[in-house]
Amino acid sequence: MARMKRLNNVKCFLLDMDGTVYLSGEVIEGAREAVERMRRRGRVVFLTNNTSVSRADYVLKLSRMGFDAEPEDVYTAGNATADYLKEYHGGKKVFLLGTDSLRAEFGGAGIPLCADNPDLVVIGFDTSLTYKNLTAACDFIREGVPYLLTHPDINCPKKDGYMPDVGSFAALIKTSTAREPFIICGKPHKPIADGVKKLTGFLPYETAMVGDRLATDMAFAKNNGFISVLVLTGATSKSDLKQSGASVDVVLDSVAFWDI
Ligand SMILES: [Mg+2]
Repeated sequence: MARMKRLNNVKCFLLDMDGTVYLSGEVIEGAREAVERMRRRGRVVFLTNNTSVSRADYVLKLSRMGFDAEPEDVYTAGNATADYLKEYHGGKKVFLLGTDSLRAEFGGAGIPLCADNPDLVVIGFDTSLTYKNLTAACDFIREGVPYLLTHPDINCPKKDGYMPDVGSFAALIKTSTAREPFIICGKPHKPIADGVKKLTGFLPYETAMVGDRLATDMAFAKNNGFISVLVLTGATSKSDLKQSGASVDVVLDSVAFWDI
């Protein structure tokens, strides 16, 4: 069976977190055991678009939930953005709309941050957003400073609903400045795929993306040649999948059912 043959090649698992291994802070039943099975086959990387929280914060969060995780087992759109900036815009001064966690992450990566005269503006998931910083970012962008988004998500899930995320900030910024971002780094876009390939060293056909969202996780797999594994424990139901007409390689009721 061609599909089984393809799955047997998988040596690297990119695991979305919210909706995939936990939901609203609760571990999905059987997820820890599934992660251990995946580790026996190869490498597991927890991959998230959330840029309000650092890699170190995720290591702590995962460890508290009983998942073994070292810093190199986690990769966020914030890490992808930092790696992209180092590779293509080394030394450029960045005005960052972001949390202290993201600031620390960029600082640790050696990216020069500034409050005035930036070369670039980066829009992250700034859950500590102030009107003053939002206005400053829009001023720079309106004056012609290029800007990028750490990821495209419009909303971030929280208990009982959603919080406006970077995609929503971007709608406001675009309306105010009439300018578009020059790149987006998180899923489903290329910079985070380049970053993760560099981190793991595995080829696309050896890599499976396991996640709960069609527009980010599954599109990311498709765009980059990864095996796509949709789990139905989060944002997407069986009928959503049917309605979307999207094709994915594997559909699982839960990550717990991964048994290869
Ligand atoms: Mg998710």
